Amino acid sequence: MNCTACNKPSNNSRCPLCNEPVQMPLITKGEVKPGKTYFEKYADFLPFKDNNISMQEGATPLIKSNILQNLYLKNETQNPTWSFKDRGTITAILHAIKQGYTKIGTVSTGNMAVSVAAYGAKANLKTYILVGKTIPAEKIGPIAAYGVNVIKVDGDYGKLYFKSLEFKDIAFLNSDVPARIEGYKTIAFEISEQLNYADYVIVPTSAGGNIRGILKGFIEFFKAGIIPKIPTIVCAQAKGCAAIVDAYEKGLDKVQRISAPDTIAHAIRNPYPPSGNEVLRKLKQHNGLFVSVTDEEILLAQKQLASEGLFVQPASAVSVAAARKLRKNNTITPEESIVCILTGSGLKYTKILEKFNYTTNEIAINDLKEHLE
Ligand SMILES: *Cc1c(COP(=O)(O)O)cnc(C)c1O
Ligand SMILES: [Zn+2]
Repeated sequence: MNCTACNKPSNNSRCPLCNEPVQMPLITKGEVKPGKTYFEKYADFLPFKDNNISMQEGATPLIKSNILQNLYLKNETQNPTWSFKDRGTITAILHAIKQGYTKIGTVSTGNMAVSVAAYGAKANLKTYILVGKTIPAEKIGPIAAYGVNVIKVDGDYGKLYFKSLEFKDIAFLNSDVPARIEGYKTIAFEISEQLNYADYVIVPTSAGGNIRGILKGFIEFFKAGIIPKIPTIVCAQAKGCAAIVDAYEKGLDKVQRISAPDTIAHAIRNPYPPSGNEVLRKLKQHNGLFVSVTDEEILLAQKQLASEGLFVQPASAVSVAAARKLRKNNTITPEESIVCILTGSGLKYTKILEKFNYTTNEIAINDLKEHLE
């Protein structure tokens, strides 16, 4: 593995010299094999073999949408724990097992926590989920349900990510560890098969792990001669917590911590993305785009998706809100195809429904006939 910034070899997930994320080597030769699971199909491009931990993550549908012309939705809510995180959790666990770890953990209160808890249970590993002290009770249940250790930590939650890396006998499978990125590549592999190729791929971005994996996947398929070009990758964030987009717009090389993050898109509310600088570097190098959207635009996109049968989290709707914006300002023409990554299910965050302003009718059973006619 090598540092993404200075290229120095390293066995840790962050570079001891510059503290930037480390990544596994590019795999530039191979082909898609016949098979059912992604481990079978993409064996040439994945440095891991499944040992019965897979719950058949991935293989999610790509659905044509009518919200915009030439818009496709990659429905990641159909993963085992209802978000794309499962794709990277399994590869990160396989890597940890290969290195001899018997204990795993993560720092998260959301989809990451649920995903690591589920796969930790499936793999029969001691699993530790570190959450902030102020976590609401309803978020603990869906993590604790898997029978793992949930530990409330009093202190600066932002520092917990870096602190967790100091425990040498627990593999912390945090948002941007190298093996997790390898799993996220499979989103790019599947899109390449489902759409031949996409012109734009829009990714709701927080820590930056998923977007790094998706770009790496497209680069590998391009270098292996499987796709004719690398799509333009779009980093989409919520205006109220857009560390990466802000840095890009200010012409900075490094992200700056957001002091008071404020958005309905809770799943992407990381004020100091650990892969932020790397996302800036790589996307600039590949002519990527950086877009932020308001809570109003997010909510509208979320409602539009629901009206097409897809109830996703506000964080996921950020991708469609960004697509609308890029079409509206003519950055993307109607002829060019867009894939939006719908990262996680709306059922994870039903409190948002208070903002949907829906109505229900109540009538007596005897009046039902009259009412429906
Ligand atoms: C984790 C998550 C993201 C952001 O992914 P990163 O790898 O942290 O950039 C986006 N949407 C949802 C629903 C998530 O759970
Ligand atoms: Zn370095």
